[in-house]
Amino acid sequence: MIEAALTRGEVAVIGLGRSGIAVARLLAREGARVYASDAGSGDVVAQAAAALRAEGISADGGRHDMARIRAASLVVVSPGVPPEALPIAAARESGVAVVGELEVALHLLRGVPYIAVTGTNGKSTVTALAAHLLAALGHRTVAAGNIGRALSDVALAGERPEWIALEVSSFQLHDTPGLRPDVGVLTNLSPDHLDRYATVEDYYADKALLYRNASAASRWVVNADDPRARELAMERSGTRWAFSRLDAFCAAHYDGARDALMLFKEPLIGRHDLPLLGWHNVENTLAAVLAVMVADAAHQSKAARAVLAAAVRSFRGLPHRLEVVADAGGVQWINDSKATNVSSARVAIESMTRPTVVLLGGKHKGEPYTALLAPLRAHAKLVIAYGEAEPLIAADLQGHVPLARCGSSFEDVMHRARAAATPGDAVLLAPACSSFDMFTNYEARGDAFRQLAQAPA
Ligand code: ADP
Repeated sequence: MIEAALTRGEVAVIGLGRSGIAVARLLAREGARVYASDAGSGDVVAQAAAALRAEGISADGGRHDMARIRAASLVVVSPGVPPEALPIAAARESGVAVVGELEVALHLLRGVPYIAVTGTNGKSTVTALAAHLLAALGHRTVAAGNIGRALSDVALAGERPEWIALEVSSFQLHDTPGLRPDVGVLTNLSPDHLDRYATVEDYYADKALLYRNASAASRWVVNADDPRARELAMERSGTRWAFSRLDAFCAAHYDGARDALMLFKEPLIGRHDLPLLGWHNVENTLAAVLAVMVADAAHQSKAARAVLAAAVRSFRGLPHRLEVVADAGGVQWINDSKATNVSSARVAIESMTRPTVVLLGGKHKGEPYTALLAPLRAHAKLVIAYGEAEPLIAADLQGHVPLARCGSSFEDVMHRARAAATPGDAVLLAPACSSFDMFTNYEARGDAFRQLAQAPA
């Protein structure tokens, strides 16, 4: 499909974010005629469009030329563009095939093996750790996809890595019909993105697309502790390996008696040697190591195991994921801005070992906050509800846990937190919401938290 589209007519690229720009350039380099557009009217979009035009690529910022999109040989959509967006709907109506940016990049990087990681939570951590482990084993490796660097950018740079660790969101799965990972990992499944999916079943159905091209050669890493994720993997072609926090029959599991992470019946590393906080990171580590070990039998040798154990120890985690950003006056400030849904906030709260002031709020995504009650009762000294979701959070939690409402600015939220925390406490930003009511993204929210936490009291 891609090959034919390159030479037949014009390819329309929708969305001029990082991935859109990279794929527009990539398609042009491959000889396609490209029309790229983005309805956004901000400076960033205008600059992106101007940069592409300067390279001879036709581009519009602030508008879509619907007639050109309807007449395109192929429409390539950036991950951030929702499927119901007008140009996508128009393309489908006119019978134009629509694929994601990843589809194009994978086509042009065909032959390079990859581990695809999806799931509701832990994707970026597992992807980054898998890349770190593969690199430690001596492979030229890149981490790409939803984790930050567009795969089109890798292809555009002319890189031919030996392995790719690829983070794939549910939206990307939806638009990547050619996804055929050497190893596929589904970390876990819980309700998320109910602001973009009509039902949770629609969301799970997109996640199931990880298995769309399963064949006898496929290798799957499955979370045995997650019934929904386990069920999705059932009866797929290929070989399955499971990881579990509890079940000693799984290829990768935690052994309580030894307090160690076990891989293929032998301890790899002690739980207390893990640099990452929280039980969920035991799961993430088991998943990443297992994926790398089944990717190539050579990764299971004694020597490889020693390299993997050392690499797990040296992995430093990612910013905005349970990141300790300040430790002053006996108070630890922990940035988990990436906890953008209820289940990820829950594991963050469960990971706390001190009395904790928990900052919850932002743009509501549709899930009830009552699922946080048990861990909040166990760990929260105070919950500060803020942002657009404040009334909903308060309605779900009021009367059950100590709660303060702070509807104004993020500075006020932090001020309130500082006043409440005493030596020996932690302040945790685990918002359970997206950031878009106050910030451009979760990174900006985490950066604001870091900056205010580090400011002198
Ligand atoms: P993703 O890329 O899927 O959003 P990340 O690795 O970036 O996942 O982690 C985001 C947040 O999700 C973390 O800050 C943590 O609170 C939570 N989290 C991470 N791993 C898990 C897991 N295995 N299970 C549940 N929650 C997790």
